[in-house]
Amino acid sequence: SLFMTLLLFWALAIAIAYILSRLSMKPILVSWKKQREFSADAAHELRTPITVIQNQMEYLLTRPKKRILDEAASISTTLDEVNQMQTLIKRLLMLSRGDANIIQLQPKSVEIADWANRIFKIYQPLAESQHKILQKDVRVSGKVVFDPELMRQALVILLDNALKYTPTGGTIEVIIKRLHGRLLISVSDTGSGIPDKDKGQVFERFYRVDQSRNAKTGGNGLGLAIAKFIIQQHRGKIEVRDNYPHGAIFQISIPVTRERGALKNHQPTE
Ligand code: ADP
Repeated sequence: SLFMTLLLFWALAIAIAYILSRLSMKPILVSWKKQREFSADAAHELRTPITVIQNQMEYLLTRPKKRILDEAASISTTLDEVNQMQTLIKRLLMLSRGDANIIQLQPKSVEIADWANRIFKIYQPLAESQHKILQKDVRVSGKVVFDPELMRQALVILLDNALKYTPTGGTIEVIIKRLHGRLLISVSDTGSGIPDKDKGQVFERFYRVDQSRNAKTGGNGLGLAIAKFIIQQHRGKIEVRDNYPHGAIFQISIPVTRERGALKNHQPTE
């Protein structure tokens, strides 16, 4: 009957509306959950250094007034924790700015050899002081367009990690080249490498491979998430693979061009 047909249509319409609403709700629910997890992880990461600082300060207060030299070790531990916390807060801020979509890419025409040299000037002595070898091989000449400050941050994250996860005597090599309209930057090391099961996850916020969670390497799992964010802003890719015979190779690849307007928000050359 007509009544039954209408009822059937009505039931169908409700079923479709329900399914559609569930589908569109899904990403919202997932991001709520992620947001909650993110805040909880952030709070946890901040609590650890704050507790150490608190304990150290309390300890220092209980000490009789003596020569400052006696307390140097304790003060230096405290300073380490403060520095770590500062890095963490900077990184959290960077990610939440990214989430809020308020990071503007500021691409410039960059002399690639100069840009790389400025970074190496800082990292070469740092590597030497840790008895590690840092080599660079820049196979690009001339200018390319990207955001020099953000790209510096991305490369610095990879260099910091390469140094952190490579033991004394190890070698870190940076290769910069151009291929088919893309700029490729790879950082290889002879450290512990990244197990296959973790390769897909190391770019996630707060993710750390088990051994580094346990070791005293002092990280919080945000560096690679930030590097990935920066590279995505440049419409590029970041990947990790194994080095031979051991270690990791992180490779950044971004589209570049010598022309203006290659990236959004393009600004006048430096
Ligand atoms: P973290 O602050 O822990 O270093 P990252 O996001 O930079 O955070 O890296 C995530 C995890 O990936 C690290 O905890 C470490 O387990 C692993 N990792 C990153 N870079 C390397 C590397 N060069 N060699 C070995 N493991 C690495």
